[in-house]
Amino acid sequence: MQGEPEVAVLRLGHRPGRDERMTTHVGLTARALGADRVVLTESSQARETIRDITDRFGGPFEAEITDSPTATIRDWPGAVVHLTMYGERVQDVEDEVRAAQEDRPVLVVVGAEKVPFDVYEAADWNVGVTNQPHSEVAGLAVFLDRLFDGGELDREWADADQRVVPTETGKTVVPSDGDDE
Ligand code: SAM
Repeated sequence: MQGEPEVAVLRLGHRPGRDERMTTHVGLTARALGADRVVLTESSQARETIRDITDRFGGPFEAEITDSPTATIRDWPGAVVHLTMYGERVQDVEDEVRAAQEDRPVLVVVGAEKVPFDVYEAADWNVGVTNQPHSEVAGLAVFLDRLFDGGELDREWADADQRVVPTETGKTVVPSDGDDE
């Protein structure tokens, strides 16, 4: 989030067609829950959708493509966290990762299909959000919320065209410089 070393999310192993929706949701979840950037490994509709949401609902947030996720991990100038059901329990390592993020950028790696063992070795932490199989979107959401200790829920959005006004029932969307009334 703003004023802190960046948090980026790397989506590994996108399978064209099959993973389109999941990759988009990884990007949207990264944005909504406080990451600064998502790096996608395949050119897909996902980048355009994520950019469109950022244009409409605000940022800052970047969506990028890499042709070498290996290099993204290898050359990362800070800490690398790989989310996997086989990893250490998030509740046991979250303090260490949070301390690391105070002075260096953090790359959060999530997979789709089987993740190469090199990634497990390259990561500073392999982290499990429970040690049960579930989804990269769920794992990412819980991990980011733990990393930011809930602070991401109160973030402000810049350059939005529109914003949602929280309501008990119904849907209220106003221009971002509009009045709630
Ligand atoms: N066997 C895989 C694994 O290593 O977690 C499950 C593949 S799962 C369909 C796709 C991605 O979801 C994984 O690469 C991982 O990033 C994430 N994931 C699934 N379960 C998770 C868990 N319990 N904790 C953290 N991440 C998880």
